Amino acid sequence: MMNLSSTMNASGCRYCVSPLKQLLHTTNHHLRFRPCSPSLFSSSFNNLKLPNFNLLLTSNSFFFTMEHLWDRSGMNTNKKMVEHLQQYGVISSEKVARVMETIDRALFVPDKTPAYADCPQEIGYNATISAPHMHATCLQLLEEKLQPGMHALDVGSGTGYLTACFAMMVGPQGRAIGVEHIPELVASSINNIEKSAAAPLLKKGSLSMHVGDGREGWPECAPYDAIHVGAAAPEMPQALLDQLKPGGRMVIPVGNIFQDLKVVDKNPDGSISIRSESSVRYVPLTSRDAQLQS
Ligand code: SAH
Repeated sequence: MMNLSSTMNASGCRYCVSPLKQLLHTTNHHLRFRPCSPSLFSSSFNNLKLPNFNLLLTSNSFFFTMEHLWDRSGMNTNKKMVEHLQQYGVISSEKVARVMETIDRALFVPDKTPAYADCPQEIGYNATISAPHMHATCLQLLEEKLQPGMHALDVGSGTGYLTACFAMMVGPQGRAIGVEHIPELVASSINNIEKSAAAPLLKKGSLSMHVGDGREGWPECAPYDAIHVGAAAPEMPQALLDQLKPGGRMVIPVGNIFQDLKVVDKNPDGSISIRSESSVRYVPLTSRDAQLQS
């Protein structure tokens, strides 16, 4: 029988590339659908490709499942990783490309793990750093709300990689807040950031990392133009909706076994519009005890 609990071991991995462009791209590049970290994709989920039920239901059955865009072979620089994301059509924005070039992913992954492979990597405490294609996707989706001077919240900040990218985009006049409930991960994320190009922003205080239950957001610096949630919520957290600015955007995976990356826009009149971007697989947004015991 299928071991569904293995879905909880991977974070930040997209299952479906819907646009035709990406299908053609991936075909041209001989994309291989093979997990690059057996421990992350072990058990009966190995090689199992889940269809995007959203696309099936909307009768757009022209879909392609994926776990990663490339494996580790030949991928030995951060710049090459970004170029690949551009070639595959995941990054179309120059600004996103520049920030991902500036914040070197290798500073955020544990030693001896392939920094630039397109898959999540274990970081301890039943958590993972998301795959590069997911980081890029979320940066693209939030780009407009990460202009200089804006406020951004990263819930489940893990390694601090995306919070550092947010801080670079909103700049010294903006605010980038990371909230993570495992204190050891917050401490290591600060170490990671101190080695990165975002270190001056951490020192200045426009970038800060906090221990807390991210389901409650971080009210002190609310409202936010951009909220990113790096773990899957069983349902939309009301506190995060409340802390979103009118005109702001939240990107959040929602669901349990089957999860959708939701794009939530708070309209200027305060009403909420929600759409599904793609099917994804993230670790759960949960209590610290439940995470450590899983
Ligand atoms: N974007 C991060 C993702 C880390 S994985 C990165 O790429 O590095 C998801 C993270 O969410 C984990 O670090 C996990 O500890 C954290 N998390 C889960 N539930 C949480 C909660 N209720 N509050 C804060 N952090 C949470």
